[in-house]
Amino acid sequence: MYEFFRKSINNEDGQVAVIIAAAFTVLLGFTALAVDAGVMYVEHTRLVRAADAAALAGAQELPGNPGRAAELAEEYAEMNGVDPEQVIVDISGNNRQIQVSIDKTIELVFARVFGYDASDVSASVTAQVSPVKSLNGAVPFSIKNQTFYYGEPYVLKEGASGSDSDGSRWCGWFGALDFTGGGGGANEYEDMIIEGFSEKISIGDIIDIEPGNMAGPTADGVQERIESCNHIPSCTWDNHAPECPRVIYVPIVEEYDGSGGNRRVEVVGFAAFFLEGLENHQGNNGDVVGRFVFETVSAETDDSLVGFGLTSVKLLE
Ligand SMILES: [Zn+2]
Repeated sequence: MYEFFRKSINNEDGQVAVIIAAAFTVLLGFTALAVDAGVMYVEHTRLVRAADAAALAGAQELPGNPGRAAELAEEYAEMNGVDPEQVIVDISGNNRQIQVSIDKTIELVFARVFGYDASDVSASVTAQVSPVKSLNGAVPFSIKNQTFYYGEPYVLKEGASGSDSDGSRWCGWFGALDFTGGGGGANEYEDMIIEGFSEKISIGDIIDIEPGNMAGPTADGVQERIESCNHIPSCTWDNHAPECPRVIYVPIVEEYDGSGGNRRVEVVGFAAFFLEGLENHQGNNGDVVGRFVFETVSAETDDSLVGFGLTSVKLLE
């Protein structure tokens, strides 16, 4: 074998040199392209990551605040190292989708040899905001189905001297719910105010009302829940930390059947409120007041629902 090569080289020196030179050029060409392709790949990955972050950040403000959603998306893209001029944010007409597209021209190093100076690298990501169908962690308060206005205060459970500012609750009911049925008791009720109901509540569920006022457990539960916000500075309805305990999830209900203390209600949706505390109170007795806010949670969704501003966000492939 060795002999064969030696002979070949000796005999066909010139030809072999040409072949090696040609092969080397081709190899160099491929290597150069691979380097440029690698640079483009890394840049594409970076842009996709920035677009993901921007779309998710913007989606937190949908559907309620599309202007702010677009601003946030641009801010997050910039924080991820993208020039704002390369970012296009598009929000769908129903304010349920936000698309972040990033287009960047990168200069090529080796491909210039073949006449390619630059190449476009782009990424486009869409985040979908969907109304919540089921969720864990609801509090045992309720509010009647109505149009909610961002930042407005609503009574989520009345006291005995209630102001009835929730759109006239049904006579003789304070607005508390008994998620587990059978008159769950004061401790269970108070725990559910503090922690939220550990099980899942879904639209269409029929739930017993809690017929009593539960003034003491309501006051204690509300106070403890508010105090469990340790954020600095203290959270407010229009500036609160993500997952602040003062943000509560309240079932929106319609009357279903029964009478007096045996009434039942149907869950028709969920809304988030920032828990402000007890108002009009005398002693333990008072109205539980929360301000309506838009929130995103991790929960089961249904895009056919109209929704009440409590949504879940996912990235579309
Ligand atoms: Zn907080």
